[in-house]
Amino acid sequence: MFQPESSPKVLLIDDDLASRTLIREALEEEGFVVAEASEGRQAVPAFTEHSPALVIIDVLMPGVDGLEACQALRALPAASMVPVLLMTGLNDLASIDNARALGATDFVTKPIQPRILCQRIRYMLRDSQRLGELTRGETSLAMAQRIAKLGSWELDLRDQTFKMSREASKMLGFHSPDQCLRVGNFLSVVHEDDREAIKSYFDSALSCQEPLCTDLRVTQGGAERLIHLEAELVTADSGAAVRIVGTFQDVTERMLAEMQIHALAYYDELTGLPNRPHFKELLNEAIEKAKRGHQLVAVLFLDLDRFKRINDTLGHSVGDMLLKEVSNRLREVVRSSDILSRANRELNDLVLARIGGDEFTLVLPELLRIHDAAKVARRLLDAIASPFTLQGQEVFVSLGIGIAVYPVNGDNVDALLKNADTALSCAKKQGGNSFQFYSRSMNATAFERLSLEACLRRALERHELVAHYQPQVSLQTGQVVGVEALVRWRRPDHGLLLPGAFLPVAEEAGLIRQIDSQVLHMACLQSKAWGETLRRSVRVAVNVSNQQFQEPGLAEIIGSELRTCSLDAHLLELELTESIMMQNPETAIDTVQRLRALGVELSIDDFGTGYSCLNHLRRLQVNRLKVDRSFVRDIATSADNVSIVKAIIAMAQSLGLEVIAEGVETEEQLEILTEHGCDQVQGNLISVPVDASAMSHLLAVGIPLPRLTLAAVSAGGEPTEYRPPQVSA
Ligand code: C2E
Ligand code: MG
Ligand code: MG
Repeated sequence: MFQPESSPKVLLIDDDLASRTLIREALEEEGFVVAEASEGRQAVPAFTEHSPALVIIDVLMPGVDGLEACQALRALPAASMVPVLLMTGLNDLASIDNARALGATDFVTKPIQPRILCQRIRYMLRDSQRLGELTRGETSLAMAQRIAKLGSWELDLRDQTFKMSREASKMLGFHSPDQCLRVGNFLSVVHEDDREAIKSYFDSALSCQEPLCTDLRVTQGGAERLIHLEAELVTADSGAAVRIVGTFQDVTERMLAEMQIHALAYYDELTGLPNRPHFKELLNEAIEKAKRGHQLVAVLFLDLDRFKRINDTLGHSVGDMLLKEVSNRLREVVRSSDILSRANRELNDLVLARIGGDEFTLVLPELLRIHDAAKVARRLLDAIASPFTLQGQEVFVSLGIGIAVYPVNGDNVDALLKNADTALSCAKKQGGNSFQFYSRSMNATAFERLSLEACLRRALERHELVAHYQPQVSLQTGQVVGVEALVRWRRPDHGLLLPGAFLPVAEEAGLIRQIDSQVLHMACLQSKAWGETLRRSVRVAVNVSNQQFQEPGLAEIIGSELRTCSLDAHLLELELTESIMMQNPETAIDTVQRLRALGVELSIDDFGTGYSCLNHLRRLQVNRLKVDRSFVRDIATSADNVSIVKAIIAMAQSLGLEVIAEGVETEEQLEILTEHGCDQVQGNLISVPVDASAMSHLLAVGIPLPRLTLAAVSAGGEPTEYRPPQVSA
């Protein structure tokens, strides 16, 4: 049974002294404390003085009557919730009706039965206390929600309506909690980039019957807030989910604070770069990743030369400015898209950090080649080389860089840092503004590679590249039907370099297009010259690199070259590789059509090594296929290769294409090729590639073909003694 406060106070307002006394005595007997007033106008002052838990008012009083007194009390905020009991006459029905409207909680009729009155009062006090608790509970819940920025919500899955608490609707920018909201309304405030994800998150939670817990961004009047959502499904007896009940919590401030803490703990304040502990973590991650993928990771340790002197002479604030500027320039280098070759796509993985006063570090993950690290180091040095203007003064600085490579120079963070530091000391000993690898052999390879690239650039300017020519002979007529132009580099002090020694570098350094166009130009001029001096047409084939083929407007470039050299288009053949064609077949077909429209001939080089599909071949409309020399090489010993060559020939014939075999070195190979109907051959058996003047000579005097071939081609004619040409490359 409900126990009221030990001695609740009751204010009794009645003008009738006898009735007052009777009631007071009864109440006091029951343990109540009673305060009294004898007139209606004393209601408010008496209430303020005594703060009673309940007020009893007689309705019939002279002056301010009970109803007015009740109304006056209700206007007092402190009295708004206090129960008021009115005493009326039995026949005063009008008062009873009025009493409720004016705020009375209950009424009793006179004459008063003291015991019943006490009982009534107890019940009223109990109800009032419960109501008070409930209201207080609700208020504190609302307050707690507001403080915690927490709102509750409910989604009725049957009619798709949302109900939200005041706090929840405020959080999402809805005006009132009573607003009828649908799923669409909710989604409309979710950040558009998160919308689809949230939708499918709800769907999957529903289908898996799992609780929800996620973060979402909402946009509210242009501002973005981060809301944490947690919810559970409510299921019906059938097991089907009928509602989702959950909370929203605005965690924007918390997230910002976390970000700030994170920034302080992980980043250097001056430059905004990762600090030493963070750097070590990132390096460790890169190593772990490299371990799984069996890749290289380079760690570059950078240190400004003579930074201490600048700091001492120009002051710390200039020193700080310099460090900031240096870090900006380093960052620029790291950001530039071509810093590493294409396989290193994820530039975000490149970690630049400041790990001490003037010490910076850079991680190059997923490194393909050691010399890529050298290239980056070179770029960093160059970036710092130009002077810094600080407070109107020009300041020159330079860098020392030490490089250690995982796994060769260490398989953990500390070892790599230590070794990069050792390499740095070596770089410093060399006078600064340089870089060094920890391994001596890496130094050698990297420098060789870099110098090769630099020399190649110079070679292009100085026209050290020349074209050699290798004849292509028809097996039908024994005549030279064309020549292939093959690039050579007359490198001073190195003799004649073959393409294998420099084309890969050229390709990586982006020089291959320049090489191709120089060779194209030389070849066209040469063919034109042969036409004039030897009075015969010699078709010249040039190799087209992947990069050149991708060049927009390739057909226009070729067309203009033909015009420049006044060469007939049919005297130029372009050799395209299968891989070029297969990379992007549709664009390839388009480019090929444009080239064909010029009237040039086209062949597919190294045929058989790629994955041409017959269908594309048919659409490509090239003139001939060049069987790769790897098949020709083993043709005399491998039945498989014979079958491949036979198949290529048969396929070419069915498509109306000519077939030329490359790399023919022996008479045996020649015999087999002739037997299977190959149209043309090219290879050292006929002639190695020779320079232009030697080729002119060969063209003038003719190239003797081996006896076997001639027997096959000249049907009964006089066999000629085979003599390999004496001119060498
Ligand atoms: P490729 O286009 O397949 O050229 C044929 C290669 O086979 C040439 O090598 C040639 O010297 C070689 N060869 C010819 N007959 C024989 C033989 O009987 N036996 C052997 N073992 N080899 C023979 P080279 O000149 O070293 O050229 C290699 C590759 O370099 C070429 O292969 C071509 O893909 C590329 N290349 C050459 N010149 C250029 C050029 O100007 N531009 C481009 N983009 N690539 C070129
Ligand atoms: Mg070729
Ligand atoms: Mg080839």
